[in-house]
Amino acid sequence: MGLRYIRPMRRLTDKEPPRFDMLYRTNALRKMSAEGVDVLVIGGGITGAGIALDAASRGLKVGLLEKNDFASGTSSRSTKLIHGGLRYLKNGEIGLVREVGKERQIVFSNAPHLVKPMPILLPLRASGSLKPFMTSVALWMYDRLANVQKSERRRMLSAHAVSQQEPCIKVDDLLGGGLYVEYRTDDARLTLEIIKTANAFGAHSVNYAGVKGFLYGANHLGDNQVTGVRLFDHIHQQEIAIQAGVVVNACGPWVDSVRKGAEAITGKKLVLTKGVHIVVPQSRLPVQQILYFDVPDGRMVFAIPRGTMTYVGTTDTVHDQLVDDPVATQEDIDYLLKAANAMFPDAGLSAADVQTTWAGLRPPIFEPGKGPSELSRRDELFVSSNGLVSIAGGKLTGYRKMAERVMDVVMPRLSKDTQKKSSFQCVTENIALGSQPFARASQVEQLIAELDEHIDHDHGPVGLAEEWVRRYGAEARSVFQEARKQYGDSFDGDAGLRAELRHALSHEMVIRPTDFWVRRTGMLYFNPGAITPDRIDWVVEEMKASLGEGLLDWEKEKQEVHDLLESHWAKTPS
Ligand SMILES: Cc1cc2nc3c(=O)[nH]c(=O)nc-3n(C[C@H](O)[C@H](O)[C@H](O)COP(=O)(O)OP(=O)(O)OC[C@H]3O[C@@H](n4cnc5c(N)ncnc54)[C@H](O)[C@@H]3O)c2cc1C
Repeated sequence: MGLRYIRPMRRLTDKEPPRFDMLYRTNALRKMSAEGVDVLVIGGGITGAGIALDAASRGLKVGLLEKNDFASGTSSRSTKLIHGGLRYLKNGEIGLVREVGKERQIVFSNAPHLVKPMPILLPLRASGSLKPFMTSVALWMYDRLANVQKSERRRMLSAHAVSQQEPCIKVDDLLGGGLYVEYRTDDARLTLEIIKTANAFGAHSVNYAGVKGFLYGANHLGDNQVTGVRLFDHIHQQEIAIQAGVVVNACGPWVDSVRKGAEAITGKKLVLTKGVHIVVPQSRLPVQQILYFDVPDGRMVFAIPRGTMTYVGTTDTVHDQLVDDPVATQEDIDYLLKAANAMFPDAGLSAADVQTTWAGLRPPIFEPGKGPSELSRRDELFVSSNGLVSIAGGKLTGYRKMAERVMDVVMPRLSKDTQKKSSFQCVTENIALGSQPFARASQVEQLIAELDEHIDHDHGPVGLAEEWVRRYGAEARSVFQEARKQYGDSFDGDAGLRAELRHALSHEMVIRPTDFWVRRTGMLYFNPGAITPDRIDWVVEEMKASLGEGLLDWEKEKQEVHDLLESHWAKTPS
């Protein structure tokens, strides 16, 4: 059995974080194909990551396979909020509000570096769909259902107080506002942190390993059962078979396409809807807190400050193409600009302000007669007659509870011997995330202050300690040490980035340059101007030197970065 129970009270140490690199990957694939696993999870988004952690922490042998990079699907393309889901209250989904409200608190206490409490302001206008009395009642109910702690409960504000707090709202029919608290995260990093924690419990997690089909055979549940998978290793171009006690399909928008490989789908199925976000400079939309406002068509949209940027989203439109990299169209961008300009007329945002965009696919369950925004975000489990367990729908916020529900179905399906060596009890509520997890939120601030003291503020990039601690947790120490080891105390932006790349190659399973720019650092979304042609070149050179000249077509990889910047409308220096 792996490590157990689990909220460490030890001090943060200088310990080298565990390797999560090419050698790890080769060994993981070799071990899984030679020995098999108890639970094989397909899909390296937050759902699959959560299941891998839950299963591994119950003492099971676990494998996780992802066809692209970890979190490259919807789990890096969300609104990046850990939230109780106020809008579910509008849909009457009381149970869901209660559950995600509780989960929100658990995710915060288990990963305080990645989950930051932030006030949200709901502006109320005479011409809007939200009315002050009903909003006050709804927020009051939300506080109770989600068991919100006293200091974070809602406050209703006058129009004057709203314009004091949020001077960029300049609408003349402002009635007031509702203020409450939700949590902002980095979805891709949260997913990676869960995967790394699952690995610490012995799970084997491999990216660029796509499942191509299933193995069938007889087991204690009957004949013709799914007993494993065939995968294609996209890096070493080889096919590998892995035997498994139970196979779980956690492929988000791809759930049905993977399910189809095992059974004919009848009954409930997924519908895909696309959600887009645009990113503009903070200076052009200087919101002081998260704003959640209704737009002319009656939908709700967020404006969220992050570093030097503000992002606005999301759209919700039916999307009938299942693609790996959905993109924003001109129409999506115009919709969001119009929505923002209706609330912030003085900003006068135009397409020229858009620094970058992203788009993600939601996989809600189809319900006849309902539009995209009305479909429930509730998760749903399917078990096929040949034993494939699939989980669809859900939220980033509720990942842990979803995983528990999946494992409650998986456990009785495992052989008696396997059941004996593991636990029927879910323990993830008490597992703090990361290789050197924080025991308390205050430790995050302590580490930021400690690293900040060592940064030469005349040369070093401003705000770096906070950025790294929020990104890497306590592993920020080793990134920092790497930067100092190579470049001394007065390392600059390039040296810092090189240290991040080395960390990513050794401890974060980066294989392709896009993994680094998009999901490990988030720079494509929040600092595209820093992805200069020169940096694109040297990142590829460092990766080639570290991973081997023959591993990938590095010129093609370089071009992929340029193509990605273009398809995300990213404004970069030429
Ligand atoms: C626009 C938008 C905004 C959202 N905002 C929020 C929010 O603010 N807060 C919140 O709580 N939730 C939010 N959500 C919901 C949340 O993002 C999703 O519920 C969650 O990310 C889904 O995770 P997943 O792991 O199920 O799917 P994914 O992240 O898509 O992961 C599935 C993975 O399976 C992989 N895969 C597919 N086929 C195979 C195969 N054959 N072999 C191996 N791997 C395979 C894919 O590559 C993919 O990485 C939002 C969703 C969208 C679209």
